[in-house]
Amino acid sequence: MLKIEHIGIAVKDLKSAVPLFEALLNTHCYKQETVESEQVSTAFFLKQDSKIELLESTAADGVIAKFIARKGEGVHHIAFEVEDIYAEMERLKAAGFTLINAEPKRGADNKMICFVHPKETNGVLIELCQEIR
Ligand code: ZN
Repeated sequence: MLKIEHIGIAVKDLKSAVPLFEALLNTHCYKQETVESEQVSTAFFLKQDSKIELLESTAADGVIAKFIARKGEGVHHIAFEVEDIYAEMERLKAAGFTLINAEPKRGADNKMICFVHPKETNGVLIELCQEIR
């Protein structure tokens, strides 16, 4: 684990959340990207090296839609940048954590990602991400 790469926030509607976060952070959204395989549309904000990812579901039964139905809008995950996602997945599995993804998958913002189940992490969904080089 190198550092917190971003914090993911589940929102109902990017159209209203993007200008709100632009006003809050006093910066422009620098990227919007839909990841069809994850059924999410994302929007990214950067303040120095702190990144925020907003996530809106593109499907009524997508993971973000289900999360909001259960818990409401709010912080959805904390993502840690890793040097070698395969090595980090092996390390966490050996330490007894449950990985949601058996293999890394393609995420937004040019990343390979894998989620760690929140049942062993005090209810916090952890994302591992490695820049695709
Ligand atoms: Zn994320």
